[in-house]
Amino acid sequence: MSATIQILSGLGDKGPAAIVVEAQGKRLLLDAGGALHPGEPVTWAQGLAVDAVLISHDHVDHIGGVVELPAQIPLYCTPLVAKTLPPQRAWQPLPYRGRLDVEGIAVTTGQAGHSLGGVWLHLDDAGGIFYSGDACFESRLFPFDAPPPAHTALLDASYGRYDQPQAQCIHAIGKALDHPLVLPVPETGRALEMALWLSEEADQRHLPLAIDPIIRDNLAALLALPNDLRRKGLDAAIQALLQRPNARHPALWLVSDRDDDPPDWPHHRLLHTGYLTPQRRQQLAAGEVLWQRWNVHLRASHLVALAHQLQAVQVAPLFTPLHADAESAWRDLLGTRLITQPSLDVEAQTKVLSSPLLTP
Ligand SMILES: [Zn+2]
Repeated sequence: MSATIQILSGLGDKGPAAIVVEAQGKRLLLDAGGALHPGEPVTWAQGLAVDAVLISHDHVDHIGGVVELPAQIPLYCTPLVAKTLPPQRAWQPLPYRGRLDVEGIAVTTGQAGHSLGGVWLHLDDAGGIFYSGDACFESRLFPFDAPPPAHTALLDASYGRYDQPQAQCIHAIGKALDHPLVLPVPETGRALEMALWLSEEADQRHLPLAIDPIIRDNLAALLALPNDLRRKGLDAAIQALLQRPNARHPALWLVSDRDDDPPDWPHHRLLHTGYLTPQRRQQLAAGEVLWQRWNVHLRASHLVALAHQLQAVQVAPLFTPLHADAESAWRDLLGTRLITQPSLDVEAQTKVLSSPLLTP
């Protein structure tokens, strides 16, 4: 069996995700990413013909380009991700963890550890093709399922060679909490685990806290899923948080990211914890906002561990720069497995049999 992979977008920089896998005479599009910065054109969809599209999760750089695709192309995503689709867009369910036939290709999904309803995708063709979407091993809330082996791995490398453990990130954020802060966060992503952590910190420090209603709704949606789709031992804390009223004069605000700017919050400082747009980078350089990462992507050693676990023979680091210095650093990490070209013909020598999914 052989397959062709075309990384239409997402290779060589942080950018919209769009990958076409052609196998068994069918073309599947993995993710349909939209622009990360407002007003930026999305060009990968021009003239594109595919038989189906599979969406890993509901962040704009993975789902925002659905509007660019003809509405009749069958679209697969999990029910929680479907809430973010354009109104009236037809969709078919992907399991949160399981297997499904899409256009004659066996697709396995598992929890990616990154966001509410998000999954990784494994195509059982050409020795296995694994696409992580956005993935993380370190979430306090979202499990990461061990995937079946794959000859080819397309992995979330958004953090480049960065490799700081989450415990250190959280410690650094903790040191900033004694000043009035607003933390704008993606409402289906780190928002949920940060809400749990912040409520513990607010209790210990006697700080008034408010959490955006949409973040509360998403925590309730997580609690309504089967309990093996979240890490163990957290249900009571989620319940307590949902019943906790917002403070009238919060020192700490966890808000859904709505492009907040410093003038929107005259009595608080903005603390960003994720990807910074060019405008926010300028604000950070000018001392107008704070930044400390909260890990939600694979850090370098975890990416290498995942490539090893997959027994991957070729590995493409996605969503990260691949200029000469970066490429040589990735070659140090991945050796001859590194792929940096957008088109690949995959001829697996031996078919890799799918192993049973490991649950967290
Ligand atoms: Zn994401």
